[in-house]
Amino acid sequence: MCGIFGVVATTGDSPKAEALNAELFQLSESRGKEASGLAGIAGDTIRVLKSPVPSKQLMKTAAYANYVRDVVRGPCSSPTPRVATIGHSRLVTNGSQVEHANNQPVAVNGAVGVHNGIIVNEQALARLHALDCTSELDTEVLFGLVRKQSSVVRGLRNAYAEIQGVANVAMFAAELDQLALATNSGSVYYAVRGNLFAFASERYILDTALERCDLAPGATQLAAGHGLLVDLSTVEIQTFALAGTEAVSEHNGIHRTVEVEAQTRQATTSTFAGVRELREPAWFTEANEKNRERVSKLRRCVRCIQTESIPFVGLDANGICVDCRNHNPIVAKGRAALEETLSRRDATRVLVPLSGGRDSCYLLHYLVTELGIRPIAYTYDWGMVTDLARRNCSRLCSKLGVEHIIVSADIPQKRDYVRKNVEAWLTKPDLGVIPLFMAGDKQFFHYAEQVQKRTGMSWQIWGNNKLERSDFKTGFCGFDRAGYKDNSLIRMGAWHNAQILAYYAKAYATNRGYLNASIPDTLFSYFLYYVKKLDYLDFFDYIPWDEKTVVSTIIDRYDWEVATDTKSTWRIGDGTASFYNFIYWTIAGFTESDTFRSGQVRNGSMTRDEALRVVDEENRPRWASLDWYFRTIGVDLEKSVRTILAQKKLF
Ligand SMILES: [Zn+2]
Repeated sequence: MCGIFGVVATTGDSPKAEALNAELFQLSESRGKEASGLAGIAGDTIRVLKSPVPSKQLMKTAAYANYVRDVVRGPCSSPTPRVATIGHSRLVTNGSQVEHANNQPVAVNGAVGVHNGIIVNEQALARLHALDCTSELDTEVLFGLVRKQSSVVRGLRNAYAEIQGVANVAMFAAELDQLALATNSGSVYYAVRGNLFAFASERYILDTALERCDLAPGATQLAAGHGLLVDLSTVEIQTFALAGTEAVSEHNGIHRTVEVEAQTRQATTSTFAGVRELREPAWFTEANEKNRERVSKLRRCVRCIQTESIPFVGLDANGICVDCRNHNPIVAKGRAALEETLSRRDATRVLVPLSGGRDSCYLLHYLVTELGIRPIAYTYDWGMVTDLARRNCSRLCSKLGVEHIIVSADIPQKRDYVRKNVEAWLTKPDLGVIPLFMAGDKQFFHYAEQVQKRTGMSWQIWGNNKLERSDFKTGFCGFDRAGYKDNSLIRMGAWHNAQILAYYAKAYATNRGYLNASIPDTLFSYFLYYVKKLDYLDFFDYIPWDEKTVVSTIIDRYDWEVATDTKSTWRIGDGTASFYNFIYWTIAGFTESDTFRSGQVRNGSMTRDEALRVVDEENRPRWASLDWYFRTIGVDLEKSVRTILAQKKLF
């Protein structure tokens, strides 16, 4: 999602409005780096400037300097000084940034505004209300709905009653001498300081900007389900409930025109891929059917379903694997223990890392509806999160009224790192090196700490599922997990760290393609994932993980979206999963699903027969997802898939 912000001021001689606008624009970049823009009032015109570049880059341009001169500085020094400007930093979620119309601020029927969030029913609403849209943006639908009414407040109330998904908006209208704000997740913070009003998507961003401009911090949250009007001549504010009917005084009667500056810069690459509904080619189906046949002949543990091809699986004379021999049941400590633990610090101040996958969505639901906690959700978007995961985050946060902080990576750069490593890997496929494709994701941990600090939350609660053991990934590096019996997911001793590093060092030495710009990023990820001590609670240490409860809750209550190319609800938020599981299954005859479902069998939540049926379905390669992955990173799909199919099988 994105960052929105703005400044309204009636201070004639103060450069504060200009400084504050600049600080807010820079700080908001952390929420989206793929496009940026501003809209503000210059006399009787609403000026719009936007570009497919990050805010810091836009700020270096002449167009930005002109905007500041005409919209911010000029009005400041006029006899009736007033500044009104809003802005946006974009994380591309709907529609490529290559199209000027897809970037923000967006102008619709005399309204100009910015939107942070994702509306998930925008197509249905556009059809229902016969809206004539010029972009692929959900924002255009939202503003189109607002403009169906002659009153902005009534328009906002009607639109929010119909939309599904997060919407934090700021809007000017041609006839209105006020700035309108609205939120259904609480991701709008504002402050009034004398003759100056400012707002931003995060408390940290606004407070930091205020402090840097020598203004007192201490932003106020606009509560989920509320709107706010700011008078552009007096900075007087009125808040109102979006679901309410109370009268709000709108100051109409102005006649402004909207002027969108022509596109001055063309984005060269799009970061939006979108899933295509594709039939898989016959050669692919045929190769997979052959592999399936071969996999069906694999020997499996007689208790769980782990195949003999899993590294260090250690099937003994009785056909029992090492994990079944060492099995240590996972016993959840229970809700009372969770509440007791939380009460040791401030139990109401909780940060939930939200991936958009089913477990973290369920965790967020549980905290809000069962424990009555209003957490802050946080996501690190590194560019390989699927669009449906982003939409599912939006569904949860809007329905639960939960503030959602997204830290956006430099997505084109991250995807470029993945491309380089995947291309290198394809020249010399090596199953031990596959986790490298996911390295960029691990900064999730780093930013969780940073966001926790900035928001003053007492706890991080993660939804890690202990059944998702993937020891085989380090097994392919020659690391025997036999001694590990404690169900811990990732912590390893120094010796094992050394073993894995040595394995990677050798892989890098024999494949020069890996010697690319991604190395510092990868090392940092390694440190975060395997070495650094992290301080968080694991929700499923306390509350038993029950697949049926998790899945039925999120689908029934939140209309949670599922993938079109698999029946599974697992791993569909992670754009890389379909790729690496295809490799493991093709070359080694199993996937993450085999080890995960084996864990469920061991723990008594699934029968062995059921597990066999489930993995047969879940292991089916997902052509549409592979297509998305390869278009996203810019590598040829067919050639890559054929390379993998041609590898010597390890079973
Ligand atoms: Zn077993």
